[in-house]
Amino acid sequence: MSIESGTLYVVATPLGNLGDLSQRAVETLASVDLIAAEDTRHSAKLLSAMGIGRPLIALHEHNETSISARILERLGAGESIALISDAGTPLISDPGYPLVSAARRQGCKIVPIPGPSAIICALSAAGLPTDRFLFEGFPPRTAPARRRRFEQLAEFPATLVFYESSHRLAESLADMAATFGTERRAVLARELTKLHETFLDAPLAGLLERVQQDPNQQRGEMVILVAGAPERNPAADESPIAIDRLLALLLRDLSVKRAAEIVAEATGRRRNEIYRRALEIKDHGASRATPQG
Ligand code: SAM
Repeated sequence: MSIESGTLYVVATPLGNLGDLSQRAVETLASVDLIAAEDTRHSAKLLSAMGIGRPLIALHEHNETSISARILERLGAGESIALISDAGTPLISDPGYPLVSAARRQGCKIVPIPGPSAIICALSAAGLPTDRFLFEGFPPRTAPARRRRFEQLAEFPATLVFYESSHRLAESLADMAATFGTERRAVLARELTKLHETFLDAPLAGLLERVQQDPNQQRGEMVILVAGAPERNPAADESPIAIDRLLALLLRDLSVKRAAEIVAEATGRRRNEIYRRALEIKDHGASRATPQG
């Protein structure tokens, strides 16, 4: 594989299983001038297991601004540099965003070397809808902020994906059950790609009970996936009064059959149900449905 000068490679690394490091990732890491790593000691172990001995520089949330500026200079001078994080894909709840966005502004070539990420890994096997999902990263740490965030998400009609740390798992699940409803389906994906990989699939109340009863289910790294809110059928929200008013208006000029057809189509309600109601209004009037004027 040929490495290009002045290029930033964003390289995904395994979540726990070394076998998930791609051939392309190995070749890239073995060939760049410099590897920027979140924790150089942690990454040195991975690199030495792969027989890679390239120079490392630490880039983490506390030094991102200053180190990114130095890396940009070196890219500008023609060096090739790889960015990795401790596990998974850099920038996904991991350092790297300031560097990548500045590199793009500077006109550097940026090449992603894709691979594992806990979001996609968890979604691929959770059995929840994947056609739409919202990645929320880590929920806020304090209870009031966390509940506010969950309240904002309660009606969102797509799968919700959260990262969470083991010591906040139980409180987060309790807050989710309180805001999303105890019966909302959820999946806890733990220790993905590792020896104790586990998927627990249950309504939120059941999931909470399970992790409270078994402290082993609170260990390690985890992703929480929550089914989206059921799609609201706006027609089902139509109040009977609004339907009655509509029917009464149409019945001034149209037959019962035609008025019922139009209202059924407009509201998505069953035609028989609307037809019966139209008949009642025609025969007896609907006190609160009578249009004014
Ligand atoms: N950049 C990483 C990625 O692409 O998934 C995520 C880094 S973030 C700092 C770490 C969080 O990712 C963990 O707290 C956990 O929520 C999730 N995670 C990472 N590895 C995992 C694994 N093996 N199993 C389950 N969740 C994992």
